[in-house]
Amino acid sequence: MQYKRILLKLSGEALMGDRQYGIDPKRLDDYAKEIKSIVDKGVEVAIVIGGGNIFRGIAGASKGMDRVQGDHMGMLATVINGLALQSSCEDNGMQTRLQSAIKINEVAEPFIRRKAIRHLEKGRVVIFGGGTGNPYFTTDSAAVLRAIEMEADVILKGTRVDGIYTSDPEQNTDATKFDFISFEDVLRKGLKVMDTTAFTLSQENELPIIVFDMNTPGNLLRIISGEKIGTKVNL
Ligand code: UDP
Repeated sequence: MQYKRILLKLSGEALMGDRQYGIDPKRLDDYAKEIKSIVDKGVEVAIVIGGGNIFRGIAGASKGMDRVQGDHMGMLATVINGLALQSSCEDNGMQTRLQSAIKINEVAEPFIRRKAIRHLEKGRVVIFGGGTGNPYFTTDSAAVLRAIEMEADVILKGTRVDGIYTSDPEQNTDATKFDFISFEDVLRKGLKVMDTTAFTLSQENELPIIVFDMNTPGNLLRIISGEKIGTKVNL
């Protein structure tokens, strides 16, 4: 296997499937099966899950809500998604732990780095909820932060497009895909991979990011096996 320990970032929106809001149980089950396929190969899997399918602080703020209050709601949304993903992973026969960046001890372990690493070493899937635990951040930043803390080999950003394009392929039919791109080129070309805070944190820590289509069955396993799927952002 190409990677021993990975950090998988899943957006909240991806969990909606064809719905407009919330969680699609079928999509959740599909993702759990994808994750199982790499856990079975002995890959250590940490996951950061977003909350955009339930609430985004910035959306609340645009309608007059206090931003910090909204961000707290967003962070709780990621814990809800984390619980759902945990349940579905367990239904598929995996051992899991959910760790939250905000204390919610009755439902999730608090985030403790050494414990999380130990879980990974024991083959448990570790799901990180609560983002970074701070308002004004995103779960992309949480994904990079946790990946660095876990000493993951790579961040796998599962999306509904199959990589990074010269422009938005959903808007522009002549957009072309990169197989590889440097951090610098992403910034220079103004391409959207993650928000800038998350992206530069990854760049500074020389942590590669692979953007790939999570909705094509088998992709996760293909990446782990060394196939060139999606776009890899590297130094
Ligand atoms: N959030 C936050 N701090 C964090 C991570 C997330 O305040 O460290 C809040 C923020 O309001 C954000 C929401 O949680 O909009 C959901 O996260 P995100 O938008 O990153 O989810 P995704 O787009 O991946 O579904």
